[in-house]
Amino acid sequence: MVEEERSLTIYMKSQKHSHTCINCGQEMKVYHATYERTVQDLPIFQKNVALKVITYDYYCLNDGCDTMTFAEDYGRFIGRSGRMTCRLEDFIRTLALETNCEGAAAICKEMGIRISGDTIIRILRKMTDKPSHPCSDAIGVDDFAYRKGQTYCTVICDVATREPIEVLDGRDGNELREWLKRNKQVKKVTRDRAGAYAKAISDELPEAMQIADRFHLHHNLLKAVKEALKHELPNNIAIPNNPVDQLSKASDDKKNGTRESIKS
Ligand SMILES: [Zn+2]
Repeated sequence: MVEEERSLTIYMKSQKHSHTCINCGQEMKVYHATYERTVQDLPIFQKNVALKVITYDYYCLNDGCDTMTFAEDYGRFIGRSGRMTCRLEDFIRTLALETNCEGAAAICKEMGIRISGDTIIRILRKMTDKPSHPCSDAIGVDDFAYRKGQTYCTVICDVATREPIEVLDGRDGNELREWLKRNKQVKKVTRDRAGAYAKAISDELPEAMQIADRFHLHHNLLKAVKEALKHELPNNIAIPNNPVDQLSKASDDKKNGTRESIKS
């Protein structure tokens, strides 16, 4: 391992000297080359972590198999290709969905993760590249900012699996409308307050139940409480500059028999 001011480089090599072919599943022991992969991992103490992994490329010697050569993989940790570990990618995906792509990139930079907003967009797109399968009868729909205040998309999650299943361009409801036409099994839709989504759902799935999501109910409640407080409380509330002086003055007043309350 090499440690520098802002980075850690960890050198790794597989202990195994055989691997199962990705196509036929037979164990192979003859490799024809090795190469070095550089894979970014979660940071340690805000230092960027790069794994330099010596990877073996094996021959498949099974005559009945179409695969000539294949690279070893490291399962869920690194995967067969890619420039970052699966756990780093999972973290970035979660962070981006909770914020937005540009915000996530800025937080990553502070943490020691090297990534651009465009790469985060690619990670989000990749999460819905899996083979499509029918989703359950309940979905969640919300908008998501690639760039806050500028570029938005619509994310659809399957409530049964809690997994994002689709990322659609824009948030005007047009792409959602087309998606709903292909997914008539949907009976319940949790959504935000966007009228465009409500209209698309009502038009395409008039029988479906539309449910306000908890985030937006909280948002509405807080807004109503703020409005109520604005009416009830004065515009300015005086706070003493030095509460200690005020307390000692009150104590003196008490000793002197003066009954004066402190306003705070
Ligand atoms: Zn094979």
